[in-house]
Amino acid sequence: MNLNFEFMLIAISIFASSASVLIAFELVKRLYLSTAASKKAMLPVYAIAVGLAVWANHFLVTLGFHPDAKLVSPGIALIGLFFSLIIGYGLLYVATQNYAKISRFALVGLLSGVCDLGLFYCSSNALHGVNTIQFHTSLTILATFTSCVITTIVTMLFYWIKTYSGKHSAFIKIATAISIATGILAIHIIFEAAIAHKAELINHTIDQSKNQLTGITIGLGMITLFMLLLIFTLLFEKHGKQLFKISFLDRRENAEQQSNSMLDSLTKLPNRRAFQQHIDSAAKRSGRAGTTFALAYIDLDHFKPINDQHGHHVGDIVLSKVADRLNASVRGCDFVARIGGDEFVAIIEEIKSNDDISPIVARIVSSIKEPFAINQLNIEISCSVGIAIYPQDGDLEKLMVCADAAMYKAKEGGKNQYKYYDTDIEQASEELLALQSELCLAIENNEFTLAYQPKIDCQTNLPIGAEALIRWNHPTKGELPPKAFIQAAERFGLINEINSWVVDECCRTIAEAKRAGFKLNFSVNLSSHQFRNPNLVKDILKTLKFYDLDASSLSFEIKETLAINNQSQFKEILEKFSEAGINVVLDDFGLHPISLAYLQNLHVSEIKLDKSFINNITQDKNSKALIDAVIKLAHALDLQVVAEGVETELQRDIIVALGCDYMQGYLFSKAIAAEQLFKLYAHLHNRQFQLGFETSGQLLVSDYQLGEVA
Ligand code: C2E
Ligand code: CA
Ligand code: CA
Repeated sequence: MNLNFEFMLIAISIFASSASVLIAFELVKRLYLSTAASKKAMLPVYAIAVGLAVWANHFLVTLGFHPDAKLVSPGIALIGLFFSLIIGYGLLYVATQNYAKISRFALVGLLSGVCDLGLFYCSSNALHGVNTIQFHTSLTILATFTSCVITTIVTMLFYWIKTYSGKHSAFIKIATAISIATGILAIHIIFEAAIAHKAELINHTIDQSKNQLTGITIGLGMITLFMLLLIFTLLFEKHGKQLFKISFLDRRENAEQQSNSMLDSLTKLPNRRAFQQHIDSAAKRSGRAGTTFALAYIDLDHFKPINDQHGHHVGDIVLSKVADRLNASVRGCDFVARIGGDEFVAIIEEIKSNDDISPIVARIVSSIKEPFAINQLNIEISCSVGIAIYPQDGDLEKLMVCADAAMYKAKEGGKNQYKYYDTDIEQASEELLALQSELCLAIENNEFTLAYQPKIDCQTNLPIGAEALIRWNHPTKGELPPKAFIQAAERFGLINEINSWVVDECCRTIAEAKRAGFKLNFSVNLSSHQFRNPNLVKDILKTLKFYDLDASSLSFEIKETLAINNQSQFKEILEKFSEAGINVVLDDFGLHPISLAYLQNLHVSEIKLDKSFINNITQDKNSKALIDAVIKLAHALDLQVVAEGVETELQRDIIVALGCDYMQGYLFSKAIAAEQLFKLYAHLHNRQFQLGFETSGQLLVSDYQLGEVA
């Protein structure tokens, strides 16, 4: 067999250094994501590994170029190792930085180039014998300069690739690793050219197979070293200092934890309950050790339109992929959970300053910004993150509120970014806190009122019920609409109490109407937060019973998004409503017919077409066609259709012609106080009575005008 002996060794060198560089990419990434303390501890260890690899590779290549060389001065070879270690340290130090200026790269390149010269000098002397070689001055300067340039580029590549998660990531990493290995070889070749041998080398008998064996051993040694280091790093990240103390018990505990109902079924991330447990123990650890941790509250931007446009199955895939990306963005010691529809949290422990947190959160934000390729769709979303730090920003109870407030600030600031909780946000949340205490007082002082908007039968124009809409008579600001306080009430957990009042007030009014001799029924708006109240339906039934009313006296309106985002919760509560004989209306409906198919197996009796839809119906043919299709499909599914926001006669005519069942809107009546509603009902009864005697005419829009009623 006539193998090209030199070529073999060079090939082994390229292969071994490419593989080592590839593993080193991962190590650099891990080091970058680790805490400041672990980085400080691990950087020298990694630098030794990289230094050893540079050194070993150097001898491997030298052997390839000088198969006749022999190690004559091991001492000098060891001095060469010193230079390799400096190269390793410099490379890792700069490549693992969060932000490095160009001057840093140049400096590390300069240092590495000079060290390369030192390494070359040592290895050549060690292999050929001291005083047997000399360097060509101009070629040496050129070689050193080339080495400076190439090592600068290599450092930049390491720096860049550690956060690269774009397309064809594996291919790009392999190609970069091979390029770096080739670059290292190029440095070697130029240095070789700079050497002028003083004396003829003694011609040793070349044992080809022995040299090959040495080459393979060095190459495999390099790869093994890096592999071991990577395995160690991964284990260390997972178990921290406990690495050497893992007991059988721990593993069993872990397994049990997994099987408990602590996982979110869609994303397989820990759920809200698991999060609560984890943050409790993180706080305890922090109390014991005097350390801090950060809570990052992650909310997806523009997630709702994905469900609307592509259906919830695509939304589900996006959520699963988001979970994967979040997991990939944090370090092994961090914790990620899904706590709501498109809300996630990360607990970032082992931190000393914001410098430890920012790179992780920045990675989260940029990883979510990368498009999601799903079923040939290219879906783009982003996320807004709020960060609060324990214990400096507040105790456990306040921490979530702080992170949430910071997240709102990030949204306000244009989304796709993160914000730390700070004094400005504190002030804003103090205003919110003030609103909170005002809301508490409002409940105590009975400052809420209800306005009722009649719901009208499209065929007869008769009122068949009304929607109850809340108002707040603020002591100083006057009457406030729901949008000024409902969200705050939700955020502060006051919505259940407020809506209990709404249900009570509705029932009281219906009972009053009953005594006055006419039958009323109201629909009440429910907010998403109430779905977390397990006693919701039970409490409603209690109130109905207290006022001696049928279940049919009330129906509840639930927003379409809520139905789509919280499917399991939603189904559960709908079953309870259905068992109780209470109707449920899907509010703000009509953004995508796909949601209709999903309705089929839900206990919903009505859908309410969104106002925006009705707005367009007179100008936009497509809008009209879509409503037509929605109504037909809804009827096929035994669902009734309500149109809301009907403001003009023309809109009314189209809606009626399309076969819509009920309608609401300013055309007939705005939301009015209970007394006015009673008057209106009495008036309409009279009109109907009159009409009975007159021609078989219908009630007219003008019959609803309160001016005539009052
Ligand atoms: P929604 O359920 O979609 O209510 C419809 C809103 O549109 C009401 O505003 C209503 O006054 C208004 N509206 C009705 N007809 C027309 C029309 O022809 N043209 C126009 N431009 N607007 C019309 P409002 O009362 O400000 O309520 C806003 C939202 O607040 C409601 O949206 C509902 O989600 C929420 N809300 C109201 N009352 C309650 C409540 O008691 N509890 C909860 N949780 N939410 C409530
Ligand atoms: Ca409504
Ligand atoms: Ca609505």
